[in-house]
Amino acid sequence: MKKHWIAAAFVACLLLTGCGAAEHTEDETTGSAVQANTEQPVSKEIFAMDTYMTITAYGENGQKAVDAAQQEIERLDALLSTGSADSEISALNASGTAQLSSDSAELVSCALEINESTGGAFDITVYPLMQAWGFTDESYRVPSDSELTTLMETIGSDQLDWDADNRTLTLGDGQAIDLGGIAKGYTSGRIMELFDECGVESGMVSLGGNVHVHGAKPDGSKWRIGIQDPENSEDIAGVLEVTDCAVITSGGYERYFEQDGTTYHHIIDPSTGKPADNGLTSVTIVSADGTLADGLSTALFVMGVDQATEYWRQHADEFDAVMITEDGTIFVTEGIADVFSSDRTFETIARK
Ligand code: ADP
Ligand code: MG
Repeated sequence: MKKHWIAAAFVACLLLTGCGAAEHTEDETTGSAVQANTEQPVSKEIFAMDTYMTITAYGENGQKAVDAAQQEIERLDALLSTGSADSEISALNASGTAQLSSDSAELVSCALEINESTGGAFDITVYPLMQAWGFTDESYRVPSDSELTTLMETIGSDQLDWDADNRTLTLGDGQAIDLGGIAKGYTSGRIMELFDECGVESGMVSLGGNVHVHGAKPDGSKWRIGIQDPENSEDIAGVLEVTDCAVITSGGYERYFEQDGTTYHHIIDPSTGKPADNGLTSVTIVSADGTLADGLSTALFVMGVDQATEYWRQHADEFDAVMITEDGTIFVTEGIADVFSSDRTFETIARK
């Protein structure tokens, strides 16, 4: 299952330019030469977790940090991918019960917390639905209502038996889980920790358009992150200027198929078993916590703008959001309204 490569490559380009890193080198062999100038980034592009990724780090330990980040991405991909039969999550789905590694355990704990707080809009038990709609192997199809009704009996995190002390997860009958809604946010968060451990003060990753920035740019200015226009992959809807945070977008345009004139995308509403259809075309979450940002980008997309607004008002200290609706209206929560800019007018959501 591949994302839209061209769109992903475009976003990566845009971000590098936006970050003033146009002079980066992709040639590992020149990495040591680059390290001599602390203003020059070390940057690497890889393909993992079904998407294009760019890792960029500044400073004398830039190369070390970028290499460590790549290793971490590959380690987590092998652990979490439902696409590879020998991953820990695939083994769990096959056997129905498993004692999990500390990474998977942390992800499951976070997923259950987000499930609870979002009233079930985020739910890792959607995997059988992802399979039925063909998103797991590109065998796209529209399941019949009766097939969905039967499958819906297996949907619900309340059927999972999670023993956090022993890190043991047992699935209910017919259940399977998919950490795809939070895996990249968790990974980018881990990379920020590795940047810290390597003594890198300035760096960023873009994991298929999911961006996480560390510190500020080397000149002390903020990172500029473009938010893709959901209607046009070659345009941006706005720019955020931020430091030290994850900026993670979920949109129906990222992965979809068309049948009989209808578009079906990969973000499933766990209450209907069908692609979420609540009026949003993209949701971007800004938060210091990458895992939370990733989970909430999916959850708020499922909720729709009214419910998402209510949710934000109750959790405004944890994150901010940019939401774009089908009619092109851009909503920006108050906490980031002064660091968001757009050619278009946008509406600010007040805390109230
Ligand atoms: P992407 O992975 O494209 O960046 P998201 O972060 O929105 O996008 O995650 C979508 C992925 O999450 C899907 O591919 C699927 O694996 C999983 N998923 C889909 N719907 C849900 C949901 N309601 N709750 C949790 N995970 C979901
Ligand atoms: Mg997500």
